[in-house]
Amino acid sequence: MTQDSQAQPPSTEEKAGTESTEKKASTDYLAKNGCWIDRRLMFEKGSPGRVGTNLPKCTVDTELDIPTDLLRNNLDFPELSEIEVVRHFTHLSQRNWSIDIGFYPLGSCTMKYNPRMNEVGASFPGFTGAHPLQPAETVQGNLELMAELERELCSITGMDACTLQPAAGAHGEMVGLMLMQAHFRHLGQTRTNLIIPDSAHGTNPASAALVGFTPVEVRSDEKGCVNLVELAGLLDENTAGIMLTNPNTLGIFDENISQINEMVHKVGGLSYCDGANMNAIMGKARPGDMGFDVMHLNLHKTFSTPHGGGGPGAGPVCVRQVLEPYLPIPRIVPSRSAAMAGSQVLEIDNDRPLSIGKIKGFYGNFLVLVRAYAYIRTLGASGLKEASEDAVLAANYLMARLKEHYHLPYDQVCMHEFVLSSKHQRENGVHTMHIAKRLMDMGFHPPTVHFPLIVEEALMIEPTETEPLETLDTFVDAMIQIAREAREDPELVQSAPHFADISSLDGVLASRKPNVKWTRE
Ligand SMILES: *Cc1c(COP(=O)(O)O)cnc(C)c1O
Repeated sequence: MTQDSQAQPPSTEEKAGTESTEKKASTDYLAKNGCWIDRRLMFEKGSPGRVGTNLPKCTVDTELDIPTDLLRNNLDFPELSEIEVVRHFTHLSQRNWSIDIGFYPLGSCTMKYNPRMNEVGASFPGFTGAHPLQPAETVQGNLELMAELERELCSITGMDACTLQPAAGAHGEMVGLMLMQAHFRHLGQTRTNLIIPDSAHGTNPASAALVGFTPVEVRSDEKGCVNLVELAGLLDENTAGIMLTNPNTLGIFDENISQINEMVHKVGGLSYCDGANMNAIMGKARPGDMGFDVMHLNLHKTFSTPHGGGGPGAGPVCVRQVLEPYLPIPRIVPSRSAAMAGSQVLEIDNDRPLSIGKIKGFYGNFLVLVRAYAYIRTLGASGLKEASEDAVLAANYLMARLKEHYHLPYDQVCMHEFVLSSKHQRENGVHTMHIAKRLMDMGFHPPTVHFPLIVEEALMIEPTETEPLETLDTFVDAMIQIAREAREDPELVQSAPHFADISSLDGVLASRKPNVKWTRE
C-alpha cells in the first residue's frame, strides 16, 4: 500500500453541503471501505452544532473577551454526539494490542500479566483522592506505603536507600547518573567517561550523554559478556564508572560481574546497574551484592503496572549509602520530634544540602507505586523468587524448542529472555521484520526486532512467567510454521501481514510522513 492510495473520506465542504452530496459521500465510503463501521478521524465525523452535552441555557452575562480565533465557531474542532465519541474510542481500543488480548513476548519489556487486585488497590479513594500538597499529618498512610516500598525495593536489590520519584526507566537512569556526578563534584573530581557495553539498551548511552558524560563503548566477548581485557584498557582516572544491565540484553548473566565492579572501583569509579532485567533474578541475586553502587528498577516492567501505551510508569533509583545524601527531594523520613514521643510519624524532608534537588512533581507517580506495593506484598519473598524462576524456565523452554529452527548466536542457558537471529531465513529473502509481521497474522505480538544491535536480524523473545504452557506451545508452532514458509513460500512471509487492518507499510515513509487515517485496499 502506498500513502496516496489511502481512502479519501468526505471532505468538510462535502459534509456541510447539500443532502445529495452527503448521500453520495456515504455511498463512496461504503464502496471504499467495505463496511459501515466509521473509521474516519474524529475531525472528519459529526456535523456543525452537534454536541454531547445537554446544559440549560446560560443566564449569566457572557460578554467575555475571548479572542476571535478561539471562538468555538472559528475552531476546527470535531462536533460529535456522546455515542459517536464512545464508539470512536471503543473502536480504537479494539484495534490495539495488549497483554489482556494475547501473548506479548516483547524482549526487554517484560510484558507480563498485571493482576487485577493491584488495580483495585490503586483505586481506593484514600489513594486516588489524596492531594499531593496535603499536610503530611493527613496522609500518613500514603507516606507509610511509600516508605515501606522503598524498604522492600532496597531489600530486593541489596541497596541501602531509594527514591521512588523517577517516572520511567530512562528517567531513573538520568537521576542515577546525576547522583554519581554529584558525588564526584563533592569529592572535587572531574571524571567524564562512562563505560557502556555494546549490548546496552539505547537509553544508556543517551542518558549518559544527556547528563554530560562521554559514553565509551566496551565490546562483548564471544560469550556475550563484557570483554575484560578491553575493559581493563579503558579504565583510568577519567572513568566515572560503568553502566550495564545484568542479566544483559542478550539474556545472559555476566558471571564476571563482581570482578568488573572491583576493576571499576579500583580506579575510583562507580558502577551503575540498569535494573530493567530484574524480572530474571528477584529473590535469587541482588545487584547490591554484585558490587553495584546505584541502579534503577522499572516498576512498570517487573512490578506490575500495565505499560506500553506511553505511561505512567515509575523508575525508582536504589543506592548504596555513599550516594544517599544526593537523593532528590522531597524525602520521606521518620519525624524526629514524634520519635522522641515514642510514636511512628512520617514527615517530608526538603532540607538536604547535598541533594540534586527536585526531579519530578511531588512524590512521583504515586498510583504506580501503590500497584508495585500491592504486587510485592501479595507475592512475598517466596512468590517473587518463584516468578523469576518461572520467567527463566519459560524462556529456556522456548529457546530449546526454537533453536533447531532459527539461528541461536549465543547458545547457552539463558535468563528471562533470549535472542534468535533469522540470518538463515534471510538466505531466502525473508527478514526479521517479515517474520514479525507474519506473527501478527497468527495472533501474536511480535518479539523485539533488530535489538540488541550486536545480533544481525535479531529476534529478542521474553515470554515472562505469566503464560500458560499451551500459549508457549502455540507460539512455538507459529514460529516453526513461519520457518517452513520461509523455505517453501518466502513470498507469503514477505507480504505479511495479510489479516491486519493495514498491510505492510513503507516503514521509513510511515515514520517521516505519518498518515493515521484508516483505509482498506
Ligand atoms: C525498558 C528498558 C529501559 C528503559 O526503561 P523505560 O521505562 O522504557 O524508560 C532501559 N534499559 C533496559 C535494559 C530496558 O529494557
